[in-house]
Amino acid sequence: MNAFADAIGPANVLTDAEDIAPYAVDWRGSYRGVPEAVLRPGSTAEVSEIVRRCAAEGLAIVPAGGRTGLSGGAVPQANGPRSVVLSLERMNRIRDLDTRDFSLVAEAGCVVQTVQQAAAEAGRLFPIQWGAQGTAQIGGMLSTNAGGIRTLKWGNARELVLGLEVVLPDGRVLDDLRRVRKDNSCYALRHMFIGGEGTLGIITAAALRLQPALKRVETAFVAVPSPDAALSLFGRVMESGAEVIAFELCQRICMEMAAKHGVGLRMPLPLESPWFVMLEMSASHASVPLREILEDTLGAAMEAGEVTDAAIAESDARGWVSGRSGRIIRNAHARMGRRSGRTHRCRFPRCPSFCGWRSGRCSLVGQRDGCRRSGMRGMGTSTSRSMRRRGWTGRPGSLGPGEWSRW
Ligand SMILES: Cc1cc2nc3c(=O)[nH]c(=O)nc-3n(C[C@H](O)[C@H](O)[C@H](O)COP(=O)(O)OP(=O)(O)OC[C@H]3O[C@@H](n4cnc5c(N)ncnc54)[C@H](O)[C@@H]3O)c2cc1C
Repeated sequence: MNAFADAIGPANVLTDAEDIAPYAVDWRGSYRGVPEAVLRPGSTAEVSEIVRRCAAEGLAIVPAGGRTGLSGGAVPQANGPRSVVLSLERMNRIRDLDTRDFSLVAEAGCVVQTVQQAAAEAGRLFPIQWGAQGTAQIGGMLSTNAGGIRTLKWGNARELVLGLEVVLPDGRVLDDLRRVRKDNSCYALRHMFIGGEGTLGIITAAALRLQPALKRVETAFVAVPSPDAALSLFGRVMESGAEVIAFELCQRICMEMAAKHGVGLRMPLPLESPWFVMLEMSASHASVPLREILEDTLGAAMEAGEVTDAAIAESDARGWVSGRSGRIIRNAHARMGRRSGRTHRCRFPRCPSFCGWRSGRCSLVGQRDGCRRSGMRGMGTSTSRSMRRRGWTGRPGSLGPGEWSRW
């Protein structure tokens, strides 16, 4: 460890059990493994030095970002090889933000929300959004190719990257932060590292694509009778003329958990429908009559039987869908004890049949070993997340267009 202390300073080599403890367990307490040390480099050169020394010593490296990952990737393997955790937390500078170029260069240890805020202060949008954005870091976001609820509009993390800086397994640095948009020079090597969970290199910085700031956003919480109805509603809102930036299908049990465990969270509607949709629409120009478009669309959907009730958010409740509810649902899972979580992917037209198949399968498992499952389907993002847990035990309205409840 002395060699690491020489390279990055003794204060940045953690070896005391108490200091290491937070890095030896994942966010949900599902994965545990103790590293020999936690190393906290402050620059790309220091990361490179650490990688060289680990290679020489035969030490495994476990890169760690905000440690919000749900698959245990940032925690050493229990009974695995000798390892160190390489935490990027000190590499948290925004190196450059160019509004003309709609781009930003951030170090891997930047918290995602810090990048969002920096972009917003400059009148730009860094569009990715999900419940752990206040803790997850740029390096972790890219290494997991994170999605979040706005994948529908802007794609996964991969789509937001213009270039990367990466320390390779032999310590060399791949510098690809040129921010050239029309880059047709052979292979786009960055894609090897995005979603790679640190297996091919350590991401130390990224050039990220920004968007124009959103001028208008409308959020609705909608009761739907079935996943089929949600699919029809999805088609309807996509054709409404507004930009649909989020469309999440959620089972009642999920909202019940959020209501039960989300301190201060007020549900926009009574939880009497079997399914709910949380949707967000946006416009980049303030003159777009977004509220009218949303109300007309929901009104037509109600007449067609696709929607049984709906609440439209007032300004202070916007962001509820994207930020709070997802986080609260996951926090609720975390508070409910041991659980298993799965993310499934299917094309969204298959969502209804998949939901049916999954529900049947989960209730079979439930009958067998006392599990209950809850499901949250990012229908617009073609993902389905289901959670099971042992032993867990929420009125359609008749509102017409223009009379939607507000929250
Ligand atoms: C409340 C909540 C909601 C969530 N919602 C979503 C969601 O909607 N969509 C989604 O995709 N995920 C979601 N997640 C999962 C998680 O937030 C993401 O996977 C996130 O991208 C992980 O970032 P992190 O910085 O915490 O990475 P970590 O958990 O620290 O690491 C994740 C993986 O990346 C590797 N890694 C970390 N940093 C680097 C680096 N610099 N270079 C190379 N490898 C690195 C680690 O070794 C590990 O394998 C959610 C998690 C929580 C807790």
